[in-house]
Amino acid sequence: MDVEEEKRVPIGEGLLTAPLNPLENVRLLGSRCKSCGEVALATVSSCSNCGSEDLDVIPLSGTGTLWTYTVIRNRPPGDYRGADPFVPFAEGLVELPDGIRVLSPLGGDIDKLAIGMEMKFEASKFYRNADGADVIAFKFVPSHKA
Ligand SMILES: [Zn+2]
Repeated sequence: MDVEEEKRVPIGEGLLTAPLNPLENVRLLGSRCKSCGEVALATVSSCSNCGSEDLDVIPLSGTGTLWTYTVIRNRPPGDYRGADPFVPFAEGLVELPDGIRVLSPLGGDIDKLAIGMEMKFEASKFYRNADGADVIAFKFVPSHKA
């Protein structure tokens, strides 16, 4: 075991490219069906469109377009790990050139978000889990400062 390597795990299995260090190089992973071309988020075992199990695992684009979004102004119920006290945040669908829309938390000023704006992928440490590993999550932030 490499003791110099900080322990990091992705927030979802098969969701992010490896290694998780440096974070600037991390991208979302997708699966592209070799039979019909459908692209799915993360590594999946079969195509949701045609059922084929012949899929390529691909890193998804690091930039996309904000397709739609909503602002969450109340603390979500359950095991919420965001800011405490709660800070309103945005969540939206970002359309990637790979042919997929990804549901993602959005960074930046929630009052300056606009449908159609260019967004970029950003991986970051979210919290430390019970095994002492940093859980790596992601969001999309506006590519250009308003
Ligand atoms: Zn397919």
